[in-house]
Amino acid sequence: PPDKDQLGRATWTFLHTAAAYYPERPTPHQRANMLSLIRALPVLYPCAHCAEDFGERVAQNPPDVSGRAGLSRWLCERHNEVNEKLGKEPFDCAIGKTDERWRDGPAD
Ligand code: FAD
Repeated sequence: PPDKDQLGRATWTFLHTAAAYYPERPTPHQRANMLSLIRALPVLYPCAHCAEDFGERVAQNPPDVSGRAGLSRWLCERHNEVNEKLGKEPFDCAIGKTDERWRDGPAD
């Protein structure tokens, strides 16, 4: 089976980066595809118990695909739920923090 931690870091990198660069005002086509991407994870993510857990969280918290700020926060909150389950520190989900980490890098 794949290394769960390496797979997780790679997947979060992709998802948070896609959210950080998602449009402020996505087209219906972009929204529908982002929703499909998120809803595919519980079906296809190659860590069965992670996928099942994530599916329950997505069902309880419908994805906000309305724009990049809402999506970045929604994803950050779902990641924090996994962090909490694993005993990791929560991440500050303010847009400034997720943008610094996943889009802009630290200011100098
Ligand atoms: P990661 O949690 O992988 O985070 C990578 C980087 O993201 C961090 O270094 C930090 O800079 C940043 N970051 C951290 N939190 C946030 C946040 N809330 N918002 C934005 N950025 C953040 N592992 C399990 O053992 N059991 C599971 O059930 C499980 N479920 C998972 C479900 C999904 C959908 C995914 C993608 C991964 C899952 N994982 C699971 C893997 C787990 O979340 C971690 O990826 C793995 O434990 C490695 O952790 P890490 O400490 O290296 O950092």
